[in-house]
Amino acid sequence: MVITGNNTEIYQKIKTALDKTEAIIIGAGAGLSAAAGLAYDNTDTFNTLFPGYHDRYGLKTINEADFYRFPTPEEQYAYWVKSIAAIRYGYPPGKPYLDLYRIVKDKNHVILTTNTDGQFIKSGFDPEKICFPQGDLSFFQCSIPCTDERYSNEQTVKQILSHIGDNDFSIPTADIPRCPHCGSPLVPNVRMNKIFVEKPWIEKYDMLNDFLDANRGKKMLFLELGVGFNTPRIIRYEFEFLFMMRKYAEMIRINLNVIEISLIHEEDRAAVIQGDLGPILNKLAEGY
Ligand SMILES: [Zn+2]
Repeated sequence: MVITGNNTEIYQKIKTALDKTEAIIIGAGAGLSAAAGLAYDNTDTFNTLFPGYHDRYGLKTINEADFYRFPTPEEQYAYWVKSIAAIRYGYPPGKPYLDLYRIVKDKNHVILTTNTDGQFIKSGFDPEKICFPQGDLSFFQCSIPCTDERYSNEQTVKQILSHIGDNDFSIPTADIPRCPHCGSPLVPNVRMNKIFVEKPWIEKYDMLNDFLDANRGKKMLFLELGVGFNTPRIIRYEFEFLFMMRKYAEMIRINLNVIEISLIHEEDRAAVIQGDLGPILNKLAEGY
């Protein structure tokens, strides 16, 4: 069923599902980070985090800048280090994530997310229980890549930033980080193109599958939060499939703009809620 508007009905529906579930699989997309203020498609967010980039390059959103080819490697790396520092390290844990943690921390749960911003980890969730198939901004990888190794980048990023000012749009050429094995430039370990080192991330699907196996036959809840249509194959379609295959599972989809018709809308055990994740999660967290 699709639920819009009536808040009491929304909270009751979700609370009832949460109270009786024995295993929760959370699927989180960009909408959850947007509710936390990290809106990747929002011009104001971009201009606040990246002053000067609109005037200089005509860029309007983080999504756009992430796939923009900067004119020189030094400018590309300036954007990357500023972006990693602002989004992954500088941005505080968002309220919707903290509320979600309060709601599920004592419940049996795992997470599948396309978000690379580390918000789940910052908000207290156990990294072992999170599957990040799109990577995490806190790592670099070789740009060839000559190895599947990932490299924590916090110190490197901070060091490079210490050599440039807020109004600089390039880093010194000598600061471009290099692969310790082959000397090629290092790049963020997030899925941008076909060089993405995905092996360490894809291996986390084993954890997800083990969870599904271990909870077979139990009351399972698929809780899908802010998942849009950028990469629907990863969470949205996967959750619909897993849910439909499990007769006793329930599913709750919360999205600001639920407009598509899906098979799950026909199911009484599924609730599709058109609403704002911030207030919904906050109200639920107050009840736990
Ligand atoms: Zn290499």
